[in-house]
Amino acid sequence: MQAQKNNIFAKIIRGEIPCKKVLETDNLIAIHDVNPQAPVHVLIIPKLDILNLCDTAPGMELLLGSLLLAADQVAKILAVKESGYRVVINTGKDGGQTVDHLHVHLLAGRAFSWPPG
Ligand code: AMP
Repeated sequence: MQAQKNNIFAKIIRGEIPCKKVLETDNLIAIHDVNPQAPVHVLIIPKLDILNLCDTAPGMELLLGSLLLAADQVAKILAVKESGYRVVINTGKDGGQTVDHLHVHLLAGRAFSWPPG
């Protein structure tokens, strides 16, 4: 299934609505979350129109790996590598996904509990 091209992240990628960008490559952007759940809360978003992890397949390893590498790069840029961070990919209804475009949350700047709520 393909993500809807009019979701908020598709519009951000097309430059139609503003965002606070941390990083951009040919394949992804990293932006500050508009409703941060931690002192550092960045979303790493592939430019390719992918609904979520359920919408991925063999052959996409490079793109998926690049999202995690970008998360670590963002952690370095925002100086939270040493203190550590949490990476989350909410997927589907029970996963708590609210925007229908694959994205990785990078959360840092405070300690997180486990298990998550
Ligand atoms: P999820 O619930 O995993 O789908 O995450 C969606 C995230 O997108 C939430 O943390 C929202 O706060 C965030 N979000 C929604 N709209 C925007 C926006 N315009 N700019 C930045 N982050 C956004």
